[in-house]
Amino acid sequence: GVKLTNVRKSFGSAEVIRGVSLEVPKGSFGVFVGPSGCGKSTLLRMIAGLEDTSGGTIEIGGRDVTSVEPAKRGVAMVFQSYALYPHLSVYENMAFSLRLARAKRAVVEEKVREASRILRLDEHLQKKPGQLSGGQRQRVAIGRAIVRQPEVFLFDEPLSNLDAELRVQMRLELTRLHRQIGATMIYVTHDQVEAMTLADDIFVLKNGELQQAGRPLHLYDNPANRFVGGFIGSPA
Ligand code: ATP
Ligand code: MG
Repeated sequence: GVKLTNVRKSFGSAEVIRGVSLEVPKGSFGVFVGPSGCGKSTLLRMIAGLEDTSGGTIEIGGRDVTSVEPAKRGVAMVFQSYALYPHLSVYENMAFSLRLARAKRAVVEEKVREASRILRLDEHLQKKPGQLSGGQRQRVAIGRAIVRQPEVFLFDEPLSNLDAELRVQMRLELTRLHRQIGATMIYVTHDQVEAMTLADDIFVLKNGELQQAGRPLHLYDNPANRFVGGFIGSPA
């Protein structure tokens, strides 16, 4: 799992994460939700090691990784922008990080086949990203994370570029993926419906502070304050 203890972040004189403590249990699907600018991406980037912390500790799988470099944290991040290489095939996009790590050809082949089977991309392996639909591109971006077999998957609003119908479909895909892989997943969104449907546990953030954490229905029925009630749907 992932455990944050009193995590802080300042950019210059602006404190954007103000002492956040929370735990996403191993194998569960945690969703960070809150309005634009509340610090969701910053928190996720700190877990990934892409951003230094200004205070507090981050543990992954019981190990303090606060000062560990990103590649050695056992995490893989999927971005909203997909960040695919346009000139490489789907296969090569998914193989890229494994080749960088000098994995053996047979290992690369096996892991990419496995990921493309899980994500139903088998028929598209030779295509370039430009020849794919938005949903297929997003699946390739997820495939690039899967081949690394991370302990923790980090998703930053991965569906926000998709149309409404595809978003609903991809939500189901993500739930299926989570059941199948069983890894810890942390998903960031400002969409309440997405949070309610995907989460084992929801973590509501406002102005860099955790407002409430718990099961979606618990938060819905027992919002800790007016903000959580308003945001999740059931006014306090
Ligand atoms: P959104 O839903 O719009 O993606 P968010 O919750 O992900 O918002 P963050 O991107 O984490 O919000 O930003 C939190 C705050 O930190 C914002 O006020 C933002 O302007 C500020 N911030 C983020 N990155 C930097 C940076 N590199 N330098 C200075 N300020 C930053
Ligand atoms: Mg963000």
